[in-house]
Amino acid sequence: MEIAPGIHQIKCLFGGTRMVFCYLLIGDHASMLVDTGCAHNPAQDILPYMGRIGFDPASLTYILITHSDVDHQGGNLPMKDSAPQAVLMCHNLDRPWVEDAEALIQGRYSQFEADHGIGYGEAGKAGIRRDLACCPLDMTLEGGETFRLSRDWVVEAVHTPGHTWGHLAVYDPRSKTLISGEAAMWTHIPNDDWSPAMPPTYCYVDTYISTQERLMTMDINLLASAHWPLQRGADVLEFVRESKNFVLHVESRLLDLARERPFMLREAIDTLGMSLGGWPQGTNQEFSYGMLGNLDRLTKRGLLRTSRNRDNHVVWSCV
Ligand SMILES: [Zn+2]
Repeated sequence: MEIAPGIHQIKCLFGGTRMVFCYLLIGDHASMLVDTGCAHNPAQDILPYMGRIGFDPASLTYILITHSDVDHQGGNLPMKDSAPQAVLMCHNLDRPWVEDAEALIQGRYSQFEADHGIGYGEAGKAGIRRDLACCPLDMTLEGGETFRLSRDWVVEAVHTPGHTWGHLAVYDPRSKTLISGEAAMWTHIPNDDWSPAMPPTYCYVDTYISTQERLMTMDINLLASAHWPLQRGADVLEFVRESKNFVLHVESRLLDLARERPFMLREAIDTLGMSLGGWPQGTNQEFSYGMLGNLDRLTKRGLLRTSRNRDNHVVWSCV
């Protein structure tokens, strides 16, 4: 679907009920694909879409990966196979996890195992591994780079960290569209039918909040994200504001819990998870990313302190 002049939204299905939007920008001189979905999505969704609109992947100029996560980078190898001339890029900070599936599985998906006893298990990791077809990047970005797609059309890479360190969005000043990936994650991540799939997986709370504040100052008329409905006009600001407010709300609930009793991360996500959103209980584990971000921030601000229990897992309590 063409959502703005030259900007196509491509819906990619994965995981049974989930979907991720990739975007194809087609100018007179150059073109850019933003994200490649999971390993099966180029063959299942992206290349068929290109075929339907008469776009030859052999003419694709750039592939920009918004961030290191299985549903955004998983299709890099098959996409590069179909468009070997396209320059594959992501932010420099996300490069290690975008290029190497095992580094991503270890660094991102196993990060809660030692300190919190929370993980995906070997079967879960095998599933993630199947969805990841990585390949080397051609270049890395820092944010601020511009790409001329037509004589009168230049788009810009915008550094929007929070969900990952090196998250990038793409801004089109011509249509005032921001292809935002997961820069702003609202109050939950939805399924393909818009029902709540899981909690928002923001990670680094200070930078995430700074990103929301930056987005609020930008002239955005259309917010075209990775998992959420298109937001237009005044709804853009509301979506970003709600993304920021949700993080602060989680933080106040965590402080309330700490006033009642000390807790581990597992207890926090299970106790607060269901009252903070309508996602299936089994996905509460995905709140580990956000809540750990909140808890780290509360600890750094001196409002909580940490200790270790007998299993050597981290326990938070009020100062
Ligand atoms: Zn995603």
